[in-house]
Amino acid sequence: MALTPPGVRGLNLDSQTRCQHYHGPTDIVAIKMKCCGLYYACKDCHEALADHSITVWPESEWNQQAVLCGACGAILSILQYMHSDSRCPACGAPFNPKCLSHYFFYFQIPQVSGQR
Ligand SMILES: [Zn+2]
Ligand SMILES: [Zn+2]
Ligand SMILES: [Zn+2]
Repeated sequence: MALTPPGVRGLNLDSQTRCQHYHGPTDIVAIKMKCCGLYYACKDCHEALADHSITVWPESEWNQQAVLCGACGAILSILQYMHSDSRCPACGAPFNPKCLSHYFFYFQIPQVSGQR
């Protein structure tokens, strides 16, 4: 019965930061955007609500606390999230493994160059 974590933005958010775009049982992660420093439920929410395009986190800043677990409110670093094995290290809530497969929308992929 938690309230929506304060400061998370998105469309039709529920109490665990699920949004209009991603609302499966495990879609509970919100991400702090590098461009504006605000938590959004997903990149599409950012696109809908922000007046600028997204900036991805460079690998050198993956130690930043930028991933919020909507289940318990814990804030993880990007590296912690990537190595979380699709569950919250604080509360054990499962994360959607598909989110990790499209993390390149949020986090710069190392050693990839020449991509648009
Ligand atoms: Zn932004
Ligand atoms: Zn969304
Ligand atoms: Zn958690």
